[in-house]
Amino acid sequence: MSTNRRATRVTIHLKNINHNLNCIKTLIGDNKKICVAVKADAYGHGAVNVSKRALEWGVDFLAVATVPEAIFLREAGISAPIILFSIALNAEIQQIVKYDLTPFVADSDYVKIIRNEAINQNKNINLHIKIDTGMGRIGVEPHKTAALAKLITESENIKLEGVCTHFPVSDSSVQEDIRFTENQIKLFKETVNTIKAEGIDPGILHTANSGAIIAHPDAHFDMVRPGICLYGYYPDQKMDKTTADFKPVMEFKSKIVFLKKVTKGTSISYGRTWVAPEDTWIGTIPVGYADGYNRLLSSRAFVLIQGKRYPVAGRVCMDQFMVNLGPETDVNVFDDVILFGPAPEAPDASEIGEITGTIPYEVTCNINKRVPRDYKM
Ligand SMILES: *Cc1c(COP(=O)(O)O)cnc(C)c1O
Repeated sequence: MSTNRRATRVTIHLKNINHNLNCIKTLIGDNKKICVAVKADAYGHGAVNVSKRALEWGVDFLAVATVPEAIFLREAGISAPIILFSIALNAEIQQIVKYDLTPFVADSDYVKIIRNEAINQNKNINLHIKIDTGMGRIGVEPHKTAALAKLITESENIKLEGVCTHFPVSDSSVQEDIRFTENQIKLFKETVNTIKAEGIDPGILHTANSGAIIAHPDAHFDMVRPGICLYGYYPDQKMDKTTADFKPVMEFKSKIVFLKKVTKGTSISYGRTWVAPEDTWIGTIPVGYADGYNRLLSSRAFVLIQGKRYPVAGRVCMDQFMVNLGPETDVNVFDDVILFGPAPEAPDASEIGEITGTIPYEVTCNINKRVPRDYKM
């Protein structure tokens, strides 16, 4: 428990991390490695606690987006391999080597800078070649991949530990997208063969994000890289949800702190956009868009109180919003309010995302740092 006593809090249900990892293992089978994406503070869940739990369960690698995110894990005493998904600045290479990070590499200049720094610090650094097979973000072009692999294997103090790629539409059920992903898998295999043709061992092959873990078994190779399904969500709400029973890990909740009965015609909150259609009870909840409860949820979302859903009434303010409890209510001041989470009948982060026009990833990432996280074993 944090010493922060605020009503508005996040509970992280760590046992659902285990549950979701078990679901992933059922999908990929034994003998495959798992690299969990804990970038962006584990999608808002808390990178240190999530990483420790996942490592206890038995995952092999952690992955982050930035060098400071990786250093944060190292300083918390985590010694497991940490993959760096994005490209670092030259000024950060010294830290990559110092903290034993495992960067994705996609061009020879970057590889040489890392090699020189590794020699400088007298250390050995593992690298993973990222091939761009269709994501269009970072990655070496397939026809230049073998040469890059050759440069790495011929260099001192750096080692080719793996080869990977990434999918932009692996979670899509549209035929054209399924074919696009299948073609990426084919191109990936062909490109890996050009490395092997040089007599080079490409190491760990890995391509699958959550979408491909669920929908493209051919993409599982030696290791998978789950993110959103670790946190309990399908990457796309249109996917076949019978494949696995992922459970949300994050619960966002607060309390009713003020109750009043208003008469028909009373307006509620900024802009006076909501007007009571009858005499009704209004509850005030100390959560706002500064906490990550999006302003687009104004008069559109529902919250769960004592197992019942109630609609948001009027605009979400920076730090508070109101709900309509109806003409008669048994809701009391200080009753718990669930904004989203795993509880039956509660909205989940994908429902919240549908309302605000985004994905569950952004919903959990956006819960602000002023909201304390409690970790439930
Ligand atoms: C974020 C990320 C993942 C995980 O993606 P999900 O859709 O959350 O499973 C995997 N690989 C790379 C390179 C990523 O950036």
